[in-house]
Amino acid sequence: MRFHRQTITVEQARSKLLARITPTTQEKVSLGEAFGRILAQDLVSPCDYPGFDRSPLDGYAVRATDTESATVQQPVYLQVVEEIAAGDVPKMALGPGMASRIMTGAMLPVGADAVIMFEQTVNPGEKVQQVGIKRKLTAWENVSRRGEEVEQGSVIARSGEAVDAGMVALLASFGITEVPVYRKPTIGILSTGSELIDFDQPLRPGMIRDSNSLMLQMLVLQAGGIPVLFDRLSDHSPAVKATIQRCADRVDLLVTTGGVSVGDKDIIASLVDEAEVELLFNHVAMRPGSPTTAAMIGSTPLCALSGNPGACHLGFFLFVAPVIRKMANLPAEPPRWRAILAADCEKPSPFPRYLRGRIEVRNTTLYAIPDPPVKSGNVSRLKGSDCFIVIPAGGRGKRAGEEVEILCYQHYLQ
Ligand code: AMP
Ligand code: MG
Repeated sequence: MRFHRQTITVEQARSKLLARITPTTQEKVSLGEAFGRILAQDLVSPCDYPGFDRSPLDGYAVRATDTESATVQQPVYLQVVEEIAAGDVPKMALGPGMASRIMTGAMLPVGADAVIMFEQTVNPGEKVQQVGIKRKLTAWENVSRRGEEVEQGSVIARSGEAVDAGMVALLASFGITEVPVYRKPTIGILSTGSELIDFDQPLRPGMIRDSNSLMLQMLVLQAGGIPVLFDRLSDHSPAVKATIQRCADRVDLLVTTGGVSVGDKDIIASLVDEAEVELLFNHVAMRPGSPTTAAMIGSTPLCALSGNPGACHLGFFLFVAPVIRKMANLPAEPPRWRAILAADCEKPSPFPRYLRGRIEVRNTTLYAIPDPPVKSGNVSRLKGSDCFIVIPAGGRGKRAGEEVEILCYQHYLQ
């Protein structure tokens, strides 16, 4: 299997993998924690909103019938019986000929069925005992009625909706403190390679620092998962299968980096020959990272990414992020946009090439600016990108000014 590999396209590989993924179970979290998550149930309002008839403006609460004959020339004068501020409970019911001075958001007194704004009364700047009403009001004019916006028992949010800041405000208005959301999937991360040391250790001859473990942890967070870091494996580790199995049992998805090529020490590549491991794919038509592998370890999916940091980054985006998002019930496929290529990318390649780049809007046109060419193992170009630019296979590549497909991180990796 290590040498005899069947090549499939990125899209075929992703479909094959996603077909094996089911959304996670639900959990209840506090309203603050629910931010950024996906609702797992419809939510029903426990009460009316507004909860009482209230004034939407500063003015006077009146009985509309009392204002029948009011005009600018001949205002109707009403007795002011009370002042009602927001938060007050009115003490006086309005009888004929009465009004109450009322502030925005305050509760309407019993008997009142309309509010006139200060500006439509005589001497609006003064606190008066008799208020002159300068126009006729109709019943329920300028009143926010109880339940006018949301009636008790109606659906205020649906399963599958994202909990954004506005949704948090909505749920807070109804006193909803616990929110049913899809559980964030746990994503195991396991680096392999005898040349690797922890990033906080001094270098020794022949060694490099393990940067993929940390990069993957950050990417998992961005994709909406919970990273779980496992101890690194050396290329001589005994009982690799047992270790992988143990790790896989503890998480929803296991991601490894390194050891997927055809080198003598590529321990993950050899793993797929084991009977209990169901290979999904181990050769994808993509550059970099064609040996990217996926398999099922029992019921846990394994994404085995190439060790070189650029390929690892790309493999995460193309395969791991979609899995995490499907598990979290978010749209799984990376968004595809079209953009104008801003620089020549003419290196021919037998497989589609994914270049890291940035998007920029110039005069309403979207441009994709590729990073200068680097080897995929290069770490200096991992930062500051916001898309992958897809250069199709074969031919001569693409020239500046040609249209290309881009895969954007925006709205995909938070
Ligand atoms: P591999 O996929 O194991 O053949 O590794 C490919 C290249 O990526 C080698 O040069 C490795 O030294 C490098 N590499 C592998 N794993 C990591 C890692 N965790 N962090 C940084 N570089 C790595
Ligand atoms: Mg290696």
